[in-house]
Amino acid sequence: METAWPQVRRALEAEGWNLEAFERPLTWPFDPRPLTVGRVRGTLFGVAIGDALGAPVEGRPGADGAAGPVRRLRPHNGRPAGTVTDDTQLTLAVATSLLERGTLDPEDLVRRFLDAEPELVAAGWATRQALERLGRGAAWWLAGSASAGNGAAMRAAPAGLFCESPDAIRRAAFLQALVTHRDPSAVASSIVHALWVGWLARGGPADAEVLAWLAAAVEGLERPLASRHRKRRSVTLAGLLQEVEGFLGRPQEAFEHFRTGAFVLESFPSAAAVFLSHPEDPEATYLTLVNAGGDTDTMGALAGAWLGAYLGDRGLRSRTPSDWWRVSAAAEIERISRLGTS
Ligand SMILES: [Mg+2]
Repeated sequence: METAWPQVRRALEAEGWNLEAFERPLTWPFDPRPLTVGRVRGTLFGVAIGDALGAPVEGRPGADGAAGPVRRLRPHNGRPAGTVTDDTQLTLAVATSLLERGTLDPEDLVRRFLDAEPELVAAGWATRQALERLGRGAAWWLAGSASAGNGAAMRAAPAGLFCESPDAIRRAAFLQALVTHRDPSAVASSIVHALWVGWLARGGPADAEVLAWLAAAVEGLERPLASRHRKRRSVTLAGLLQEVEGFLGRPQEAFEHFRTGAFVLESFPSAAAVFLSHPEDPEATYLTLVNAGGDTDTMGALAGAWLGAYLGDRGLRSRTPSDWWRVSAAAEIERISRLGTS
């Protein structure tokens, strides 16, 4: 189904999308190591842990009043502690589709999203509306919502794991985003997230050196968007990534500068700044993000993917409380991890 790419590319370019970045071949600027089951399991558990930690306080202004700051998994909306939400559920749908089809097949992915839809916990509006159109038979390349939400990025990690080359990761992340988010910044965020996961899972360094490489991978794709912050100047994810390094070790300033909402230009750079502040300390990374207010589960899921890809499951397990691993998706993650590296 690599045929999906040239076809959709022509259609989008006819609409004015700038896909010039895809003319420039992308290569890892380091010697990539083979993917291991530990990195896969670490990435997927990393997503699930951040999602389940953040879900009980999603959308709250900050650390939850009466219950105090989040330090462990808590029940949410009548569901037991450790219940994962759409971030993990859709990540696992992308993973299963990629592994079973051997490539990013948008039609297969749509079927899996529609199958998962009735069980989705706390799905965002952009995804729900796109799934409604897809359920009525809309074509996958037309159904996506005009939304720069973080819903496409949050589920993109499997493209970084299960596609081999940076170019293949970039195409798969593009297509998986487009089925629900027909917005260049949402698509760019999916690409950036998947490439970063791929970078870390193959032994790339967990430092700010990656940011310029990630920005170059999507250069020209976005149209600057008016931000809600900082005097409404126009921004792109590629541009904001270049600002992240200035906020390392200063999480509160990062949250004030980038903000923490579901708009991907807020939550993505905030999560990136916290992860890069202390990639060797997953407990601090998770707790800082899930107690930041705003889209806490998705910031936890994004950073969780980077932590797990970087540390692997053993590294992540040895530096996090054991009861954080009691997430509802554990059996499914084990199944996919074995499938993905067999
Ligand atoms: Mg969620």
